[in-house]
Amino acid sequence: MMLGYLLARSGVDVVILERHADFFRDFRGDTIHPSTLELMHELGILEDLLRQPHQEQQRFEFRIGRDRVLGPDFSRLPTRCKFMVFMPQWDFLNFLAGKAKRYRGFHLVMQADVTDLARDGERITGAVAATPGGEIAVRAALVVGTDGRHSTVREKAGLESVALGSPIDVLWMRISRRPDDPEQILGTFDAGKGLVMLNRGDYWQCGYIIPKGTLDGLKQRGIAALRNDILALVPWLHGRVNELEGWDDIKLLTVMVDRLVEWYRPGVLCIGDAAHAMSPIGGVGINLAIQDAVAAANILAPALRGSRTSVEPLRSVQRRRELPTRLTQALQVLIQDRVINPMLTGGAMRTMTMVIWMLRRLGFLRHLLARALGVGFRPEHVRTPDVLVEDAPSGERR
Ligand SMILES: Cc1cc2nc3c(=O)[nH]c(=O)nc-3n(C[C@H](O)[C@H](O)[C@H](O)COP(=O)(O)OP(=O)(O)OC[C@H]3O[C@@H](n4cnc5c(N)ncnc54)[C@H](O)[C@@H]3O)c2cc1C
Repeated sequence: MMLGYLLARSGVDVVILERHADFFRDFRGDTIHPSTLELMHELGILEDLLRQPHQEQQRFEFRIGRDRVLGPDFSRLPTRCKFMVFMPQWDFLNFLAGKAKRYRGFHLVMQADVTDLARDGERITGAVAATPGGEIAVRAALVVGTDGRHSTVREKAGLESVALGSPIDVLWMRISRRPDDPEQILGTFDAGKGLVMLNRGDYWQCGYIIPKGTLDGLKQRGIAALRNDILALVPWLHGRVNELEGWDDIKLLTVMVDRLVEWYRPGVLCIGDAAHAMSPIGGVGINLAIQDAVAAANILAPALRGSRTSVEPLRSVQRRRELPTRLTQALQVLIQDRVINPMLTGGAMRTMTMVIWMLRRLGFLRHLLARALGVGFRPEHVRTPDVLVEDAPSGERR
């Protein structure tokens, strides 16, 4: 959506094919980081965005065993917004789509499930999609696969990926929130258990972290055992865990971390999770996908105003975004393998003590973490023009 918006804004014709009828999906990542808010400011739409219902959070804390420990603190970031925004992803996507629709070149086709790519020899020349009205074919100078971690585009283009593995999975669920509950608790960990809680106003979006592949064992113990595990971590949820009536109230999200060796072929490029599936750790996947989109628009818009793109600008997009991707994934893998997994399995006490010590003694670590999460590595800036401003009589902005 972000890439479509930026390209249409700079005068390129864009067709977005979206499989679903709407953007409503429960338990999608709902974080908008300071780096993305900075981009919204550069686009002149930050104030409008912040008028949508949302929550803001500047500091985060963890509960580890019986200890409260301060986590990332965004107050000193070199960005306009020194906080993270929580907003349902469908609201954010609808907001971006609304802004993009002002541009003549922007076309959004819902319920268009991309099933294949069109080819002329080695070159990809478009996409084929199944719609309620039958199959459609869209010819394009460039197809960009932004279809997430199970990308059809990456598969059909024959792009090879490297899996980095993940020892954890996450069970997402919602539990009601009361006005006298704490504002925000990012994570609560105790020997063998971990719960992430995101304040969504009248409910908590909870992510219960489990060692990979252990859901079946958990199911055999029964839903009551899961409720008790959650209560052991957060006793004040007493009376509310019963809202989890059965396994239908719980969604398994299988965590995967991978990245493509090459993000492109002639006529096709992948970005976002389609190029590099991110772990939920740090909640940075959306922001990384958006950073990819901005870099891709900056590099590709001039070429796309012509009719064909060579492989060179596609390679430039990968070159620009591969390092931030590798560094972010390395940090995620380090945290999941060295901190979260040991807390869930053996070595829990030693790891917990070490994490508490580091976060308490090494104040700069909290700021480094805030920088890595809030701004990321190699932040992008909008460099593409706005055709509405260019077309307007001088000095007048429409
Ligand atoms: C458990 C979990 C929790 C997470 N929490 C967070 C978080 O809090 N914050 C965060 O920043 N990141 C989080 N992430 C990561 C984040 O969800 C992704 O990194 C991010 O959404 C990637 O964006 P994307 O646009 O590349 O892909 P997606 O957001 O996956 O979007 C892909 C889109 O393509 C559509 N699509 C798929 N296939 C087709 C097709 N064949 N034809 C047409 N359309 C298609 C889908 O319907 C979807 O709309 C989490 C991930 C997991 C697994």
